[in-house]
Amino acid sequence: MLKFYNTLTRKKEVFKPISEDEVTFYHCGPTVYWTQHIGNMRGVVMNDLIVRTLEYLGYKVKLARNYTDVGHLTSDEDEGEDKLEKGAKREGKTPQQIADKYLKIFERDVTALNTRPADIKPRATDNIKEIIGMIRILLDKGYAYQTDLAIYFTVLKAKDYTKLSGQNLAKNIAEAGKGEASDPDKKNPADFALWFFKTGKHKNAMQTWESPWGKGFPGWHIECSAMAKKYLGDTVDIHMGGIEHAPVHHTNEIAQSEAANGVKFVNYWLHNEHLLANDVKMAKSAGTAYSLAEVKAKKYEPLALRYFFLSAHYRSKQNFSWEALAAAAASLKKMQNKIRELKETVKLSAEKIEATGINEHYRGQFIAAIEDDNNIPQALAVLWETLKDDKLTADETLATVFDFDSVLGLELTKVKLDKTAVPKKIQALIDNRQKFRDVGDFAEADKIREKIEQLGYEIKDTPNGVVVNK
Ligand code: AMP
Ligand code: ZN
Repeated sequence: MLKFYNTLTRKKEVFKPISEDEVTFYHCGPTVYWTQHIGNMRGVVMNDLIVRTLEYLGYKVKLARNYTDVGHLTSDEDEGEDKLEKGAKREGKTPQQIADKYLKIFERDVTALNTRPADIKPRATDNIKEIIGMIRILLDKGYAYQTDLAIYFTVLKAKDYTKLSGQNLAKNIAEAGKGEASDPDKKNPADFALWFFKTGKHKNAMQTWESPWGKGFPGWHIECSAMAKKYLGDTVDIHMGGIEHAPVHHTNEIAQSEAANGVKFVNYWLHNEHLLANDVKMAKSAGTAYSLAEVKAKKYEPLALRYFFLSAHYRSKQNFSWEALAAAAASLKKMQNKIRELKETVKLSAEKIEATGINEHYRGQFIAAIEDDNNIPQALAVLWETLKDDKLTADETLATVFDFDSVLGLELTKVKLDKTAVPKKIQALIDNRQKFRDVGDFAEADKIREKIEQLGYEIKDTPNGVVVNK
């Protein structure tokens, strides 16, 4: 039975999708104003492992991951400047050029990390009509009000506003209301903006649209609510994002969506913990925001980083260091070598790796791990145990670990045979033949030569020793 820890109920729950045909999954995507660091990448890989787990267990998944390209304000610096504008000013480009640039880098990096692409990749700026539609409903239903500066959602009207994080609203006010706390007409400091007008401190906003209430741009939270509704429906099976989103962004998404749609917004809320560096959250401000390009520049393959991510549970913090990455890279290399060795054996015995050869004992253990709130570190341990079990035939081992790898995504099927290397078995025969030659027993040496040839290898004696060809 597949179980997930649901942030909303604070317990592990059996997963039951709304429809048996398809699981709807919304993942809060990147704000595309800068290169995402490997902490951001951890969130995407954690999401990918859950999606792959669902697919492995037979569910069809419809995954939507948005790009935020307007409305996400820097709340703790510059007093709420739009992040895209900040990027545009920094690089002398338009916000859309910035979005295009960083969206491509993001896609390149998550592809290198072998994450399954999202089925739907909506940009907020392509969904302004839907956002305005939702704000209109909220105004009509009395959940929103307008001031000279913005349109706000009134949190006191939301049913059980703090249910997701259980936060103390009084404590949260500063954060939730920071965007427009300076608006004297705001009724409650915790009310959050749905639409900012092109006035006041946003009078020079670079990206604005007409709306029935005046020119402006959307708040960040309403974007996800509108896109989730448009692409996945009023109620979504799973919604995932970084843990810091629970008390503000996701709390606000629930309030808006449930007020506008009149039904439960999300059945399962999943949150991943952060990647740390020096024991604090990896972040640009901490000077630790390493990019995947830096990882590659240090000669680590992106899959080594993926392997590193597999070693910690998504709800645990994980501490990054270059030493830890080096250890992960070494483990991955060891795994690849083991696969290579097994592939040689399979080739020599001319057997085919067949899906029917999956070892059910280990498969059972693997499924138990991934069904238990996506316990990937445990699943990885089962894969290692399978690889090391020499009671299994090479075919069975390979078929089983390749099956597991459809969840773990380490591209084990792509491990190439080393064409220049002579398989151990052949080398042993060559060494043996040489011993007979050394004592002048050419008849015995020729018999071994024949055996080597039967295995598909040709040997030539040269002044420099034996040359082997395939
Ligand atoms: P942002 O571009 O700032 O909106 O962040 C994009 C995503 O990256 C969000 O879902 C954050 O939760 C996530 N994120 C940011 N920093 C980290 C970190 N150090 N570890 C894991 N996820 C992070
Ligand atoms: Zn979101």
